[in-house]
Amino acid sequence: MAKYIFVTGGVTSSLGKGIIAASLAKLLQARGFSVTIQKFDPYINVDPGTLNPYEHGECYVTDDGAETDLDLGHYERFLNKPTSQANNVTTGRIYQTVINKERAGDFLGKTVQVIPHITDEIKRRMKLLSEFGYEIIITELGGTVGDIESLPYLEALRQLRNEFDRDQCLTIHLTLIPYLAAAKELKTKPSQHSVKELLEAGIQPDILVCRTEKTLNEELRSKLALFCNLRYENVIEAMDADTIYDVPLMMLKEKLDIRVMELLNIKSKQDPDLKTWKDFLGHLKNPSEEITIGLVGKYNELQDAYKSIYEAFVHAGATNECKVKIKAIHAEDIEEEKDLSKVFADLDGLLVAPGFGERGIEGKINAVKYVREHELPFFGICLGMQCAVVEFARNVLKLKNASSTEVNPKTEHPIIDMMSEQRKIKNKGGTMRLGAYACELKKDSKAYEAYKDEIISERHRHRYELNNEYIDPLTKKGMLISGTNPDKNLVEIIEIPKHPWFVGVQFHPELKSTVERPHPLFVGFVKAAIKYKNMRAKL
Ligand code: GLN
Repeated sequence: MAKYIFVTGGVTSSLGKGIIAASLAKLLQARGFSVTIQKFDPYINVDPGTLNPYEHGECYVTDDGAETDLDLGHYERFLNKPTSQANNVTTGRIYQTVINKERAGDFLGKTVQVIPHITDEIKRRMKLLSEFGYEIIITELGGTVGDIESLPYLEALRQLRNEFDRDQCLTIHLTLIPYLAAAKELKTKPSQHSVKELLEAGIQPDILVCRTEKTLNEELRSKLALFCNLRYENVIEAMDADTIYDVPLMMLKEKLDIRVMELLNIKSKQDPDLKTWKDFLGHLKNPSEEITIGLVGKYNELQDAYKSIYEAFVHAGATNECKVKIKAIHAEDIEEEKDLSKVFADLDGLLVAPGFGERGIEGKINAVKYVREHELPFFGICLGMQCAVVEFARNVLKLKNASSTEVNPKTEHPIIDMMSEQRKIKNKGGTMRLGAYACELKKDSKAYEAYKDEIISERHRHRYELNNEYIDPLTKKGMLISGTNPDKNLVEIIEIPKHPWFVGVQFHPELKSTVERPHPLFVGFVKAAIKYKNMRAKL
């Protein structure tokens, strides 16, 4: 029977519940348990797919094509195991299921209510992953205790705690211990109040994890234990970290995994095997090189909008023992820029980011033109790849008005066009080309050099694609189609073999980069950027 760990959050949002959950999962995995993590989000959207990145950061896509919360990216990066639709549930999805059942007459004339119908559906989903044979299921409850929208989840949790044996589940409450600079003191009161709030919902947390910028002394830990009805050793300190990848080792030091095993009455299967993790941290913290990559995007104000790209650079940087500095460049700021040499002067490589809609497109195309002509390593992802093809069509094939029909539906040269199966779709949610598809690589290519494999699988999230009618002219003028989908003959990777490193991909490689498996294309791109930098230094 699976054991369940629930993670709630108090005092404020953005305390890093996802990182704490992923770190604990990592430690339990390192001790030999099969672990998974799921997240329940209290908003009414059925999934985050329809949300603007400014609202919610990046939308993370799983192999099975679910559009999910970006915390699932952390789960995969930490555990090196794929997640699926079942790992992310929203209030919208819960209500949708219950309402569909009501319409089907499944409630046999009963009044459908939050308790028990919504809470029953929440509980059913909380237990769903046990069917896959996991020994430990960690559930992160989104939102902050005290929010109106979190109430049904806390109620479901209260009920479950009564249904389970005492050692079958536990609750970890993540809270903030603010430091008041004027008083030079850490304050426990907000945490006391947030635990009271949980108690009002009928839940006594078993472990308190305390985010803090200063270390918690014995007195403070005792005070928290006393006021929050906890054993002293179940008060865990979570200091601000230099990198999220430090957190598993910090939790190991605080013995969070041991406290969890005690409470769940389970024995470690082995000493924690964290060798790969520690090696990665060693490389990450002792780089021998440093490069700067320009990231041309339009959601740059919010780093979370490109979360997986930033993390993929951390992994690929560590592999190359190189610190990768990202310089965010607003696509709109460089639309009119005739001479990009100043803006790009400190760059060793350029990535053009994924995106939707017209805003910033011309800036992205302008950026590609510069890096193509100046042999700066280039990596285009999804819309970034589409911009690279449009740029090539306009400036190399001399098709002046070439465009994507997403931007200009009436363009003379629809070099990027909507996929035929997309044309009839009206609904926005969950209807793009989503999830993992196979891609066949050409042997003599940068892509093959990176993957060292002929058939790869990558995740997609788009409606438009390269128009096959232009393959001939493109290849005649020096573009290589190095990856295609074998079933539908869709172009998935383009390259310019004459350029030192110019690769555009229709899929999202960043979603599959993990600590243990840095993504080969990011590794290759960073390598090319290091080479470019060293070459430049010699000039
Ligand atoms: N807007 C483009 C499309 O739908 C690219 C999407 C993306 O970059 N994820 O095809």
